[in-house]
Amino acid sequence: MDIKEIMNEATKTAKSKGFGIRTEADIPKALCLIHSEISEALEEYRNPEMPITTTYTEGLTKQKPAGFTVELADALIRICHLADDLGLDLEEAIKVKMAYNKTRPHKHGKKC
Ligand SMILES: [Mg+2]
Repeated sequence: MDIKEIMNEATKTAKSKGFGIRTEADIPKALCLIHSEISEALEEYRNPEMPITTTYTEGLTKQKPAGFTVELADALIRICHLADDLGLDLEEAIKVKMAYNKTRPHKHGKKC
């Protein structure tokens, strides 16, 4: 599955569950929710009981995937959904930025 396919699927699923960008006011909320997934990833990483790979917990309808890797996936899904709702070419932006990153100095000239 490429980035565009993930974007389409993320939007399709989100809309079928009643989510989506309807107004400009929804954009900051979407960014906060992306951040919340990163925070969830941090909490999973800090949990000594939780392996870094995917685990399953009891969900509402079936076993729910959980863990650090799943929270990273949640963040990516939300980013893809946001980009798709806004009509952004995320795949091209990733390619352009990764190519640029290859030209940057060691640690981008920073100490850490
Ligand atoms: Mg999550």
